[in-house]
Amino acid sequence: MDAKKNSILIVDDSSLNIIALSNILKDQYQLFVEKDGASCVATARKHQPDLILLDIIMPGMSGFDVISELKGNNVTCDIPIIFITGLNNTADEEKGFLLGAADYINKPFSPSVVKLRVKNQIQIVNQIRLIHNISITDELTGIGNRRFFYAQLEQEWQRALRHRASLAFMMMDIDRFKPYNDTYGHLQGDKALKVVAETIKNSLSRAIDKCARWGGEEFAVILPDTDLKGAREVAERMRSSVEKLSIPLDDKTNTCVTISTGIQCIVPTHDEEYNLKNFVSDADMALYHAKELGRNRSCATEDIPRR
Ligand code: GH3
Ligand code: MG
Ligand code: MG
Repeated sequence: MDAKKNSILIVDDSSLNIIALSNILKDQYQLFVEKDGASCVATARKHQPDLILLDIIMPGMSGFDVISELKGNNVTCDIPIIFITGLNNTADEEKGFLLGAADYINKPFSPSVVKLRVKNQIQIVNQIRLIHNISITDELTGIGNRRFFYAQLEQEWQRALRHRASLAFMMMDIDRFKPYNDTYGHLQGDKALKVVAETIKNSLSRAIDKCARWGGEEFAVILPDTDLKGAREVAERMRSSVEKLSIPLDDKTNTCVTISTGIQCIVPTHDEEYNLKNFVSDADMALYHAKELGRNRSCATEDIPRR
């Protein structure tokens, strides 16, 4: 199967120009077309194309107005924009670049040069995407890493604050994993880590639920819009799925690899006494409690007896 095509939004008030550009690019890219600035902004927000080819002189919003609008919005600010324009003078070209354009092509344009300049921008987009994906992925297990997770956690914390929604955070740790490594070696340990990571990931049923490798043999899960009852169910599903993998812990006892989970679930408020760090460390405390109670189980902060 073909890899997904990069997408390009072409914006020009002249149908002839749209047809000409579409003919140059349609075989290699998925195209969106718009004939005015306001529609360009709407389509860019909705589809987040990889590149925008933008005319400057258009009725209503000019290309300069459009680029300012797109660069000022979080969702669209990183989309590269190439101006394709009849404004063939240095002052406008300079203005275009100062407003954040990636490139500037004069009309009438040469089809082969347009193709090559588009290819350059698309290559940069793909390279940035690749580097970004590497930077947020845990190399061993292929799930998100801690950098990825912190960004998600921060975002979901803010979202839960705005919507006064319940947010659940779970920290899980493989039980007695040091002896496992000591018995079977670290390469086998790595294999077990991969399988456990996959099992945790597959136990999440909603797209907004996110898991990551926190470090070592520890994993973290964030469940937006989830109350404690729901979080306990997810934790139990994970615990039981890992247990069912039946990965022998050693060759003497009849025990298998299991996980323990600490759960913290709250509706965040603007209380300065309780921030994201407290949220994480509370889940960690609950995890320690699960270990103390014998492992292969989950505990919530409210299960910890008050001293
Ligand atoms: P507990 O039930 O209390 O969590 O015991 P534990 O043995 O799992 O905990 P401990 O913190 O003593 O040891 C964690 C072990 O996890 C140490 C190391 O052998 C193993 N580990 C951590 N990261 C990796 C990794 O990337 N690969 C492998 N193979 N093992 C790892
Ligand atoms: Mg640990
Ligand atoms: Mg452990």
